[in-house]
Amino acid sequence: MIPYARQSIADEDVRAVNDVLRSDFLTQGAVVPAFEKAIAQYVGAPHGVATSNATAALHVAVAALDVGPGDLLWTSPNSFVASANCGLYCGADVDFVDVDPRTYSIDPIALGKKLDVADRNGKLPKVVVVVDFSGQPCDLAAIAALRDRYGFAIVEDASHAIGATYRGVRVGGTPYADVVVFSFHPVKIITTGEGGVAVTHDARLAERIALLRSHGITRDPKQMQQPQREPWEYEQIVLGYNYRLTEIQAALGIAQLARIETFLEHRRAIARRYDEELADLPLILPYRAPDVGSSLHLYPVQVADSAKIGRRELYDGLRARDIGTNVHYMPIPMQPYYRALGFNAADYPVALGYYERALSLPMYADLDERAQGRVIGALRALLQ
Ligand SMILES: *Cc1c(COP(=O)(O)O)cnc(C)c1O
Repeated sequence: MIPYARQSIADEDVRAVNDVLRSDFLTQGAVVPAFEKAIAQYVGAPHGVATSNATAALHVAVAALDVGPGDLLWTSPNSFVASANCGLYCGADVDFVDVDPRTYSIDPIALGKKLDVADRNGKLPKVVVVVDFSGQPCDLAAIAALRDRYGFAIVEDASHAIGATYRGVRVGGTPYADVVVFSFHPVKIITTGEGGVAVTHDARLAERIALLRSHGITRDPKQMQQPQREPWEYEQIVLGYNYRLTEIQAALGIAQLARIETFLEHRRAIARRYDEELADLPLILPYRAPDVGSSLHLYPVQVADSAKIGRRELYDGLRARDIGTNVHYMPIPMQPYYRALGFNAADYPVALGYYERALSLPMYADLDERAQGRVIGALRALLQ
């Protein structure tokens, strides 16, 4: 079976994990801070905070921005549910802004219109979670211009996008978002099994995210509210969570990060070949925005209306040939939980129309030429 995505594990990864297993600390040692520093340095941000997964990072990022009951958080309907759930975790109300018809990330024009209406109704969002769909950075400068005008915070869900660039600067290193979150789930660019990192240029925000990540507990005399009388004393100063990454995971992350450029190069080569060899089929291939470099987490095609079979038949036909594909994403407002909150996917026609035709083809660093040839051959056989 050729999966749609999978991790790439080398001997160095196994050795790094083994070394930690034989060491003194499996959690709360020196490896997690080293991983945080390595990620922050790679993306070009001054601060990085590692968490048990990107969902946890989104939650504490939004919490650190003081989002609570009565506040509004907006995000993209074309994303994984975590991009919206982080608002609900904080007791905020969530709403969605439809996506751009080429990139399928949040549409700055739709966002501007919705902000204008919200401004007149006195219902502006406190946070907008933008999503770099498929690894292609969204239009950050346009979104930041709206932020400057309407005064919301930007959380960039870059779960797909570590290693991607926006106008020549790596995602996370750009000055636009308040917090940028990466995921290290095994289907993403690099993995820690489960894991995430939030990066920021704001030292105070980083401190607050780190506090919330670990029970709201501090041993830092600068943060403690009472004079420390005994050496074992620590203080819980806010209500936090246990969202820590383990040393074992961080060691895997450091070993993976050392190979990220190779992973990205393989993904670019795979995308180039799909671009060339699928061009004559009734498929809409992914659009490449100017001035950005995608990390190519996904290679999402759409089955054209002119094709002799529909998306479901293509999915089934590939599956019968032992080729796995996936659909990114069923619009979040379509989920029963969100429908029960009153949402209707029809209110987001671009995201819905995209969902109805979309299929993510196999894309991962270890997808070799032969396997990709098999995917392309199967697509030809089914569509021609
Ligand atoms: C994978 C993903 C997440 C969640 O990441 P986890 O590390 O699995 O919690 C959030 N948002 C998007 C867009 C994702 O693709």
